[in-house]
Amino acid sequence: MIGQMMDQPLLISSIIEFAARHYGGSEIVSRRVEGDMHRYTYRDCARRARQMARALETLGVEMGDRVGTVAWNGYRHMELYYAVSGSGAVLHTINPRLHPDQLAYIIGHAENKVLFFDLSFLPLAEIVAARCPTIRHFVLMSDRAHMPDKTSIANLLCYEELIDGTEDGYVWPQFDENSAAALCYTSGTTGNPKGALYSHRSTVLHAYASAMPNALNISARDSVLPVVPMFHVNAWGLPYSVLLSGARMVYPGPALDGKSLYELFEAERVTFSAGVPTVWLGLVNYALQNDLQFSTFRRTVIGGAACPPAMMDTLIDRFNVEVVHAWGMTEMSPLGTTANLLAKHHELPTEAQRAVLRKQGHAIYGVDMKIVDDAGVELPWDGETSGHLLVKGPWIIKRYFRDEGGDVLEDGWFPTGDVATIDPDGYMQITDRSKDVIKSGGEWIGSIDLENIAMSHPAVLQAACIGVVHPKWDERPLLVVVRRPEAQLTREELLAFFAGKVAKFWMPDDVVFVDSLPMGATGKIQKNRLREAYREHRLP
Ligand code: ADP
Repeated sequence: MIGQMMDQPLLISSIIEFAARHYGGSEIVSRRVEGDMHRYTYRDCARRARQMARALETLGVEMGDRVGTVAWNGYRHMELYYAVSGSGAVLHTINPRLHPDQLAYIIGHAENKVLFFDLSFLPLAEIVAARCPTIRHFVLMSDRAHMPDKTSIANLLCYEELIDGTEDGYVWPQFDENSAAALCYTSGTTGNPKGALYSHRSTVLHAYASAMPNALNISARDSVLPVVPMFHVNAWGLPYSVLLSGARMVYPGPALDGKSLYELFEAERVTFSAGVPTVWLGLVNYALQNDLQFSTFRRTVIGGAACPPAMMDTLIDRFNVEVVHAWGMTEMSPLGTTANLLAKHHELPTEAQRAVLRKQGHAIYGVDMKIVDDAGVELPWDGETSGHLLVKGPWIIKRYFRDEGGDVLEDGWFPTGDVATIDPDGYMQITDRSKDVIKSGGEWIGSIDLENIAMSHPAVLQAACIGVVHPKWDERPLLVVVRRPEAQLTREELLAFFAGKVAKFWMPDDVVFVDSLPMGATGKIQKNRLREAYREHRLP
């Protein structure tokens, strides 16, 4: 027997239409690349998205065509999120921090038909124009006054003119909810980047689930500032989940340094934010150095890389900001787990509560996970045994764009490449990425634990731990450390700090101090480059 409820496809356009109709007056504030602040409402955003959808039609963009964006977090970028996907085309957000060779590769691979870009990326767009013949139209995301007098791009179009040139009245097309909506490439730390192709259905379900209280907990009372870029896994779905929640949106544009962010948090009374640990490093340090407090900021999601416990402690204890540690991947849209306390945890002493919050967290509805050994046998959820982490769910990929790598699933599960434990309450903790695990004498050493201990030393700003070749043990841990400005710290002092905190065989064999660590395009430390740089390192 079939149920008798309405059959409505889960389409991205339904989010903007709901938002405009039911929270039409909610505000979207953006710091623009042009330097000023811009404010308007959900209602305005929906109208302009419809106009842009019409303009795309006039440019010849058809269902399934890929439309690229190279842009910061801002209102025009959000209009494109809805205009492109809503019209049936595929939004391909491109990370401008990638090397031009990788950019050209990705754009060629995706066969983008149109490329939208922010003013600051004109030089980049000019390089792309010379190398990417699939692109028929280039659109500068600004107004006539900011169009360049001279550019090597032929027939450069102006975003505001495209909108002004169309009338409202566009009606979002209805189609199969499984149609492709957005494309995002992994950062490609091993081999060429691969594309994760999201559908309307997967995006809407992910947005729904991620807004829930056990996940990001977004409501109409929040003012949300996504620091995580819209060019990286759709800013963790916030441009969708914030709109369906009716919250206020605050976009930081290109100014992501500690001072600019702090000022925006205060001026716009931000309550909730999300980003990778490295951006919090800048913001927290700025606030500490200037002895500042946050007046409205109460909660942040930190993920994309392990949140150092010292950073979590500072945010909670010094700034009264709740930290939700989250884990996910490009291949998972990206959200998989979030660390929030259960009722029973509230009775625990602070340190025991913190131990729960430091884990990568509990699966959100829609994501199932398990850990297995090398032979694929499922391992117990005892919080001790670690194994390969596998996931499944309606917003997790089953294959990469253009079938790169073929069928990537193992018995219907997606292998994440992470190594983790799961405790009896279902909290997952990443001990390492498979390729970062240090293998010493047949045992695994988790680099994340060692980094976290190093970063809890007051003189340490950043630390990365890698395995270097050892004649007897195969590999031994080497710590690569950035000291805080003006801090004094010797190798011996740092090693002594580890005593009693880890098993003896986990003790790092050596420490090297550096001025900075190599960072990848998504704000993560590039351990593969460190491994290369220290391949010949002689351990004492
Ligand atoms: P890429 O895989 O292209 O580097 P992703 O953003 O998809 O980019 O990265 C996903 C990976 O990042 C995960 O597989 C995991 O290794 C790591 N990661 C994400 N969140 C966390 C976290 N909270 N703690 C530890 N590692 C994390």
